[in-house]
Amino acid sequence: MCSDNHQNGRLLLCHQCDMLVALPDLEEGKKAVCPRCDTLLTAKWKEPRNQPTGYAVSALFMLLLACLFPFVSMNVAGIVSEITLTEIPKIMFSEDYSSMAVFFLIFVQLVPAFCMVSIIFLCQNIKMARRLKVELARILFQMKTWCMAEIFLAGVLVSFVKLMAYGDIAVGLSFLPYCLFCLFQIRAFQCLDRYWIWNEIESAPKINVPLKTGKPGLIQGVRLCQCCTAILPAQKHQCPRCYSKGHARRHYSLQWTMALLITSAILYIPANMLPIMVTQTLGSDINSTILEGIILLWSTGSYPVALVIFVASIMVPLLKMLAICWLCWDAKRHGRYNSETMHFIYEMVEFVGRWSMIDVFVIAVLSALVRMGQFMSIYPATGAILFASVVILTMFASMTFDPRLTWDKANKKFELRNNEES
Ligand SMILES: [Zn+2]
Ligand SMILES: [Zn+2]
Repeated sequence: MCSDNHQNGRLLLCHQCDMLVALPDLEEGKKAVCPRCDTLLTAKWKEPRNQPTGYAVSALFMLLLACLFPFVSMNVAGIVSEITLTEIPKIMFSEDYSSMAVFFLIFVQLVPAFCMVSIIFLCQNIKMARRLKVELARILFQMKTWCMAEIFLAGVLVSFVKLMAYGDIAVGLSFLPYCLFCLFQIRAFQCLDRYWIWNEIESAPKINVPLKTGKPGLIQGVRLCQCCTAILPAQKHQCPRCYSKGHARRHYSLQWTMALLITSAILYIPANMLPIMVTQTLGSDINSTILEGIILLWSTGSYPVALVIFVASIMVPLLKMLAICWLCWDAKRHGRYNSETMHFIYEMVEFVGRWSMIDVFVIAVLSALVRMGQFMSIYPATGAILFASVVILTMFASMTFDPRLTWDKANKKFELRNNEES
């Protein structure tokens, strides 16, 4: 189906497989997915402005409540230890574990709070300079992956199980608001449609190239702006709408991905060999590595939690590194598997990667809560920082990988078939 320039506003390039799709008139509550790779392209929400704002305001309010009251408490032989959310980074700063405290502050509190404020500003169309609005939207979508509030919550639950062996654990007044905060911030992101919000900020730039739907953008000499979803001529490096720079395919994508991957693989070895935390009980220090922690949990009968930690901390990073390696190898056109299979692997890597942070958050909670002097205290150790770096590096590795490379070998076949037909 050929389309003229009037239709440009309704065309979209799939960010995963580069297929040009004509968007149908969506009814409220319906979403459009790519016919080639099933990726969600855009969704039409009932109240596109008020719904995300409502969730974002509620999330911020819940976060405020969660910071005011005690979060969790622990009672060991009559000694009670109680912490609030804000005390967790404070304790780490005071004990010279500032890198852990910074991880915690950024991923669990600052980034989610910043994103919620940005959603309110953008959806309510608050008066501000156009450039400022563009920057806000740009940072918002970049920060989305780094909101780890729900992973921290999972970490808290795991630490409860770990601590149950030592004493009574109780949740404080702010625990429920924190759970609600996690829920509301996820919903706020879900209801915010990238395609819609960028069109609200400014309509997409016009493009004077005849375009054909159902064909990849690369073949037609156009590229997608990964940030604002605008369709741009392939040779245009800077997007006129959001000012992001880009190319038809990310430059040196495979080289960057492999470099980050090798670095994380090197760090993965000491991260597993060195202790991630130190438990001090009655004057003696017990160092424990990730694997030792899992064995301890297993031996005390906490099989499900031991499994969760084993999968999240050992299996996922390892499988993720192997999967990214495989994706790079396949993108170099050595692979025998079809693009759909490789796309599924990429989606899995993107989805599970962040969850490996669980163990880092478990250590953060344990070391903040278990401070009972000589009786029993837990401190983070070097392994934890190395492990967090491994997770972050693998997250960057999958971000620098351009998923469209996976589909390009299918494009070649597509081109050949079209040439034969004509
Ligand atoms: Zn697609
Ligand atoms: Zn753009």
